[in-house]
Amino acid sequence: MHTLTDENLRSIRAGLIAREAELRDRMRRVQDDLRREVTPLPRDAPDAAIVLENDEILHAVDETARGEIKQIERALERLEAGTYGLCEECGSRIEAERLRAVPYAVHCSRCVTDT
Ligand SMILES: [Zn+2]
Repeated sequence: MHTLTDENLRSIRAGLIAREAELRDRMRRVQDDLRREVTPLPRDAPDAAIVLENDEILHAVDETARGEIKQIERALERLEAGTYGLCEECGSRIEAERLRAVPYAVHCSRCVTDT
């Protein structure tokens, strides 16, 4: 299939919105965990190290989710604008297979290696 039908676009859109909701939910949970960890660290060093490590992981999860949400929002804007599925670099259609794997892709597989 070479073109995206309205039905394709609707299901992509629904998928993006569902994914964004999932990410926001995950971020909320991460932030709850981070708040909980404001409590004093355990006194013995090994446990303290583990708590700090978890804290770093939580921050990393939060960052990743935030980045993905940004990309999803951009994809939704592109859907609105009618430019969804077009490579931002060369303007050609992004392969349907690639969009299935990465629904918020903004570059075709030829251009993605340059970014
Ligand atoms: Zn391209």
